[in-house]
Amino acid sequence: MLRITIDGPAGAGKSTVARELAQLLGYTYLDTGAMYRALALSALREGVDSGDEPALAALLSRLDLRFERGRIRLGDEDVADEIRAPAVDRIVSLVAAHPRVREAFVARQRALAGDGGVVVDGRDAGTVVLPDAECKFFLTASLDARADRRHRELLSQGLRVSIDEVRREMAERDALDEMRSVGALRVPEGALLVDTTGLSVVEVVRHLAEYCRVRGA
Ligand code: C5P
Repeated sequence: MLRITIDGPAGAGKSTVARELAQLLGYTYLDTGAMYRALALSALREGVDSGDEPALAALLSRLDLRFERGRIRLGDEDVADEIRAPAVDRIVSLVAAHPRVREAFVARQRALAGDGGVVVDGRDAGTVVLPDAECKFFLTASLDARADRRHRELLSQGLRVSIDEVRREMAERDALDEMRSVGALRVPEGALLVDTTGLSVVEVVRHLAEYCRVRGA
């Protein structure tokens, strides 16, 4: 049972591809972005400032966060949809930039990844969380293609936002993710780079699955 990591910028299709690849291989999918989003949502609800590292670390230590049947929960509440709200998009990268927040989540992610049979997606999955993973991928796509995907996703949730706004917010989030001092977004050593612009989910999943099968998945 291998450990597979998928990193890349927002909207490159990581989560859809990771979920489908995990299903295809009979592996568990671990969405690390959902964990940072759940903390950001809690901070919004409790009025904790996204710049207040000690308060965020304290909030995180009290967070009863779990995954059940592929959906993230805070205690008894399913928050899988709410963590995708634009208000969370706006602050999640600020929340995720704090070293104490990252340290605590990375420890939880390693524990959840266990001995393998897992597909982990995020920004630092192949660099920090599981640097020894057997299969590492870095998914990219043009900013326009990524903004278009995210825009469609928001529209399907009934949220009316302009594509320009989505593109701007996405570029800002990428810049913050690339510039932070800990766990910055970068291509992991030994990762296969896949540009998903113009490719369907099926095509990307097939490509990744073949690469993993050759390595024993
Ligand atoms: O993957 P997703 O877009 O849901 O992630 C939301 C945000 O969470 C990212 O923009 C990033 O700031 C943060 N994140 C992170 N490290 C990860 C996964 C997500 O910093 N491993």
